[in-house]
Amino acid sequence: QTRNRSPQPKPWIEAIHAYVPGKSAGKDGRPLIKLSANENPLGTSELALAARANAPALYPDPDSKALRSRLGELHGIDPARIVMGTGSDELLNLAAQGYAGPGDEVIYVRYGFSVYDIAARRCGATPVVAPDADYGTDVDALLALVTDKTRVVFIANPNNPTGSFLPKGDIARLHAALPADVLLVVDQAYGEYVAPEDDDGAMALAEAHENVLVTRTFSKIFGLAGERIGWGTGAPGIVATLNRIRGPFNVSSTGQAMAAAALDDMAFVERARVHNRDERARFVEQIEAMGNHGLRALPSQANFVLILFEGALRAETAFEGLADRGYIVRWLPNQGLPHGLRITIGHPQDMDAIATALREMAEAAR
Ligand code: PMP
Repeated sequence: QTRNRSPQPKPWIEAIHAYVPGKSAGKDGRPLIKLSANENPLGTSELALAARANAPALYPDPDSKALRSRLGELHGIDPARIVMGTGSDELLNLAAQGYAGPGDEVIYVRYGFSVYDIAARRCGATPVVAPDADYGTDVDALLALVTDKTRVVFIANPNNPTGSFLPKGDIARLHAALPADVLLVVDQAYGEYVAPEDDDGAMALAEAHENVLVTRTFSKIFGLAGERIGWGTGAPGIVATLNRIRGPFNVSSTGQAMAAAALDDMAFVERARVHNRDERARFVEQIEAMGNHGLRALPSQANFVLILFEGALRAETAFEGLADRGYIVRWLPNQGLPHGLRITIGHPQDMDAIATALREMAEAAR
């Protein structure tokens, strides 16, 4: 028997395209204003920052008890039904690992969040990509792909990078049509940006059914991305499964302290939501005025907008032109969107500068 000269990765691991994060520095290492990672331009709550100083450097509470109890109180959820993750990324991976393996299928929608593909492949499952409907989710097209092998369905609501949102009725219809042994993961990383009256109902489904996991994060509206704190809620069986395979100390002491303090400052969250809603509307209006140049802003319920370049100005050219002006946004050729730029909603002056730059470039490209 001949042996290899080095350890061989499993073939399904080798097939993974590593996650490509956005850039944060320009040519020659010049600092750029970063609107490429959907971070909160308002920063984070002062209460959270103050809590950082007091966090012990010893091992964290492995069960994040205080934080889960605070989350439970705020959302009206039994803390026993809450599981914490090193960012919600970890929970998405654990959900796939816990419920799917070689020979099984994991469904997500075209232009869905890129981690779903990695999550499916790294446990050896087969990713199945449902066709989109004008960059959004087509529930019927997705349901048509469900087979006996389907184990997990991932939906980001709102979705990254498109910003698209599946309303309550569609989420309910999707859930009702799925077999009871398929885990439906509703990824609400941008959930707090959605107007309360537009709630997608996924939390209620997670409360009432055995096969729904809802994930959320402190990375986006709470502005704590660097601390890597995500959480999920679902039936006790799902929570127990994810707890079995998560890292024992997967949320740091500072992360637990800062997140719990951030929950005491929901006024900050509301300010961020309103700022985002208003600035997003203003920005989209400016992009819509460039429709004659082939620019199209997809409707977004998140803290970013995906702009499609369907005229003479190409997305790549616009990406470089914005970088020359000091703005880094997300160009998405690796996600099947070489004609798209995803731009995080920032401060008004930055959104105005970007809109002006895009108009200048579009006019020059004619
Ligand atoms: N889900 C979606 C849809 C996202 O856009 C992101 C962040 N890019 C995440 C999950 C993961 O975020 P985190 O791991 O920081 O919680």
